[in-house]
Amino acid sequence: MSGRVAIVGGGPAALSAAAELRRHGCSADIYEAQPSLGGLDTYGIVSYREPLPVSAWETSLVLQLGAVAHLNTRVGQDIGWRALEQNYDALIIATGLGRVPRLNIPGEQLTGVWDALDIIALTKTGHLDDIDLGARVAVIGAGNTAIDAATCARRLGAERVSILYRRGEAAMPAYSYEYAFAKQDGIVFEWWTQAVEIVGQHHVEALRCQHTLPLPGHADDRMAPVSTQDDVEWLMPVDAVIRAIGQIKPQGPWDALQVAHHGPVPRVDPKTCETSAPGIYAVGDCLAPPGEATVVNAVAQGKKAAAAIVNKLWEAQHTACQGKEE
Ligand SMILES: Cc1cc2nc3c(=O)[nH]c(=O)nc-3n(C[C@H](O)[C@H](O)[C@H](O)COP(=O)(O)OP(=O)(O)OC[C@H]3O[C@@H](n4cnc5c(N)ncnc54)[C@H](O)[C@@H]3O)c2cc1C
Repeated sequence: MSGRVAIVGGGPAALSAAAELRRHGCSADIYEAQPSLGGLDTYGIVSYREPLPVSAWETSLVLQLGAVAHLNTRVGQDIGWRALEQNYDALIIATGLGRVPRLNIPGEQLTGVWDALDIIALTKTGHLDDIDLGARVAVIGAGNTAIDAATCARRLGAERVSILYRRGEAAMPAYSYEYAFAKQDGIVFEWWTQAVEIVGQHHVEALRCQHTLPLPGHADDRMAPVSTQDDVEWLMPVDAVIRAIGQIKPQGPWDALQVAHHGPVPRVDPKTCETSAPGIYAVGDCLAPPGEATVVNAVAQGKKAAAAIVNKLWEAQHTACQGKEE
């Protein structure tokens, strides 16, 4: 069985696809923007759930199977999407999610304002002693990443860590066990609170906050809009602000490859993960509905796409052989 497959992204979805392809004799070239493989296993899942050596070990197993890694290579920037498509028999896109969106409030450019994913990545790949958030930290958002950022901040030595959420407890996106874990760590939850300005000269000094109100009858609804109470405003003194309000889904690959997509999510055949463009597959978080992005789902989809590619290549090669025999 032969076949050349390019995989964009080096996270769990990509690595499981690469392992499956190598087991069936196909080549697997992984293009990863970061200096190391592993995706969020390496850079995003906090060390107390996914220690770095575990991710490095899993990655090494895939490389031992013969997958080739092209690191520090951002497709769309260092190499074109079309170039990959043309040079390989199949292309798997496993680019995950993008950055945490900006809050779009005044003061966001001040030092001391962090992206939650950057803080977590630093705790995994840098020296913990070099990370100084200060004593009072505010985390904006109440999802899984917010809990991780807040509990990291506590472990980095912050004395008071507050999670600000513009809705109430019932609408919090984090799991209940994460909520319990954060409370055990002494994290303070400020419900129905919205940061409207980050205040400071060069460095963060305080957050200007307003209370929010649900629409009548929508207190539990995560999607329902809330209104701010402009007349109830206060300053919360803080040394660092961490943005943790979800992650952007990049649309670039789908546009570049003319893959049909609904919003930023490509349309795929659920049985194979093949997109509307034959030979191009999408797997992992780039497909995941909100709240359903997990390593196991990403790994399962990587395997599924690889199996579909192997079947397709086998059929094509079998048909070609039969043609020659006849
Ligand atoms: C803070 C946090 C905590 C989490 N905790 C858990 C947990 O405890 N358990 C769990 O199951 N899941 C957890 N998840 C979710 C889990 O990490 C993801 O579902 C999983 O990593 C998705 O794998 P993936 O391969 O699709 O994407 P990713 O792991 O995001 O990997 C995508 C890779 O693609 C690369 N890339 C992107 N664009 C390009 C490009 N143009 N060119 C080259 N490379 C590119 C990126 O650099 C990245 O390495 C967590 C997520 C976060 C953010």
